[in-house]
Amino acid sequence: MRLVREEIFGRVEESLKNLDEARATLGDEIKLSAVRYMLASMVLTLGRGAGSTFYRAGFDIGVYKAEGEGVEGLEEALEYIKEKFMDTKLGVIEKAEAKDDDSVEIVMKESATAAGYSVDEKLCYFQAGFMAGVLRAATGDRWEVREVECVAEGHDACRFIAQRRG
Ligand SMILES: [Zn+2]
Repeated sequence: MRLVREEIFGRVEESLKNLDEARATLGDEIKLSAVRYMLASMVLTLGRGAGSTFYRAGFDIGVYKAEGEGVEGLEEALEYIKEKFMDTKLGVIEKAEAKDDDSVEIVMKESATAAGYSVDEKLCYFQAGFMAGVLRAATGDRWEVREVECVAEGHDACRFIAQRRG
């Protein structure tokens, strides 16, 4: 059975409405350690396609959330990304700055997927995709978001460049 974006994320939204009852003890929380093992095992399953799959997943969620919450325009998109990352603890956005109309630099610390890793590769595909999805929904244009530096490679922050592709 293949579900479209609205159906499957609609189910998620519904499932989260009554957590006071459904998860009376644990609520809307799960430990990073559990998530990291889940993600690592998905990398095992997905192999070389893992990065693009996580990017696509982030993109779909970004579009869905930004559309649902009526985010509009580049400035609102950047503010939304900052707030959502803090709220969900995906990472701390230290800087999200439009360099010109068509490109944005985003700097993130404390990445949920990369902080603490030292593996000589980039690990924040999900976040990059989420940014691309929010930008897409908010501006109506296609955006490509590339992580150019990652803490997992030894940098002191993760740095992304978003480019409008029209
Ligand atoms: Zn990173």
